[in-house]
Amino acid sequence: MRYSFLRFPDGKPKALTLSYDDGCKQDAKFAQLVTKYGLKCTFNLNGDRFKNRDGLTTEEIKELILANGHEVAVHGYYHRGEGYIRPIEGIVDVLECRKELEKKYDRIIRGMAYPDCGITAWASNTSYERVKSYLVDLDIAYSRTLGGDNDYFALPTDWHKWVPTAHHNNPKIMEYIDKFVSMDTSRGYISTRSPKLFYLWGHSYEFDCDGGWEHAEEICKRLSHKDDIWYATNIEIYDYVQAYNSLVYNAEFTKIYNPTLFTIWLEIDGKMYSIKSGETINI
Ligand SMILES: [Zn+2]
Repeated sequence: MRYSFLRFPDGKPKALTLSYDDGCKQDAKFAQLVTKYGLKCTFNLNGDRFKNRDGLTTEEIKELILANGHEVAVHGYYHRGEGYIRPIEGIVDVLECRKELEKKYDRIIRGMAYPDCGITAWASNTSYERVKSYLVDLDIAYSRTLGGDNDYFALPTDWHKWVPTAHHNNPKIMEYIDKFVSMDTSRGYISTRSPKLFYLWGHSYEFDCDGGWEHAEEICKRLSHKDDIWYATNIEIYDYVQAYNSLVYNAEFTKIYNPTLFTIWLEIDGKMYSIKSGETINI
């Protein structure tokens, strides 16, 4: 045995996820578009008392977002950038948002996208270590940041500093998509065979410009209906990777036990394995 690689459900080597902010009214049209193409999106929402443009109604969010398998995540009660406020203010903004969304949508919500300048700028005697520390205490599993567009397609190493692949208006977006879609992970060096993630983010109101919605549709079309891509929300990817990381191995790496509730897939020296919940396999 030389190397093993995570594979997403059904052995797929690639995953795609989307993250759209602010719950603006254009999210209705965007949710319908991504649903039509079979993509999964995480919608990051604010508190009710933060009047942010003409937002979606609770009913629209239930019907167009949650009923179609998309995710709702925290985006700050008053949309306040964690890097610019004292930790206690950040705690209140995240916790109040989480409590309201959980109550309104009757579910456990652990995802987040940093609002405003997030963790890209600092003042008020705070730091990334302090922000991450209180997010962990508030049971926020992951938080998306911005400002590092790239075509590495890597899974995050720090889930509280989850850097997306690209904003939809990145001038290289179609180039990145074509590279991702055509990648062959079955051969080559280690970096080629590692699992690949494409993470697209933005605000749906940005499509209200000349050719904006055509641009959105072209992105969806190029990424949709690929047999080797798992279409998932942010939290689905987080949960699956956590489950993969919970696999238990013997010292010689000839047995693997899956203590999780997921069926886990992995590729070892070019051979695909799947391990059901509670199962131990011999390699
Ligand atoms: Zn925002």
